[in-house]
Amino acid sequence: MIIVLLGPPGAGKGTQGELLAARLGIPKIATGDLFRAALREGTPLGVEAKQFMDRGDLVPDSVILGILREAIASPEAVRGAILDGAVRTVPQAEGLAECLTTIGRKVDAVLLFEANHTELIRRLSSRTTCDICQTPFKGLQPGTACPRNDGGRLIRRQDDEPEAIQNRLNVYEELTAPVIAWYETHGVPVQRIDAIGDVTDVTARAAQALERVQHAG
Ligand code: AMP
Repeated sequence: MIIVLLGPPGAGKGTQGELLAARLGIPKIATGDLFRAALREGTPLGVEAKQFMDRGDLVPDSVILGILREAIASPEAVRGAILDGAVRTVPQAEGLAECLTTIGRKVDAVLLFEANHTELIRRLSSRTTCDICQTPFKGLQPGTACPRNDGGRLIRRQDDEPEAIQNRLNVYEELTAPVIAWYETHGVPVQRIDAIGDVTDVTARAAQALERVQHAG
């Protein structure tokens, strides 16, 4: 299954994507994680992405589509993939659909994680993130060793500063929210998931939504 995760920043796409990927035994492709890893390694991709990411702006569609094409065609994705934050504009949704068509595949489901603005701002402004595994943590100070013991340190992401958060939410409304209607009009079921509550409860809701899609198909 090719599953696209949509939802505003802070809705929990990364956390849920990882849990769902483990459950389904397919990889999670998170473009934001790829950019942060590229930046750590100092590659040209990382340097290019940084100027957009720090402000909370979107990296150009052409860059994203190049990454998606490669990721979808990789042997690891042969049974499917969870695309976390990897489709953020209508041209990206169109480009991904074209690329999947050429290899006889399609997006099977869209999971839309929903939470109100107050909750999103609260989550983003109070989290720290491991600079290695990218896992976000609540209530741990920057500089703390990653609780996953991977040698990483917790940092405050530059785009989790208040100005960038507001910009990311605006960018979501303007450029990403229209992707929901695009999928609906192109026959891809969009499952809305209440992203407020315990992580395990939200995962259970997402898993149920995927079962509904599988049964309907
Ligand atoms: P995330 O970790 O998903 O919040 O992504 C962090 C940042 O990476 C975003 O704010 C964008 O600057 C960039 N980014 C990640 N995925 C995309 C995408 N599909 N389109 C454009 N920019 C992206």
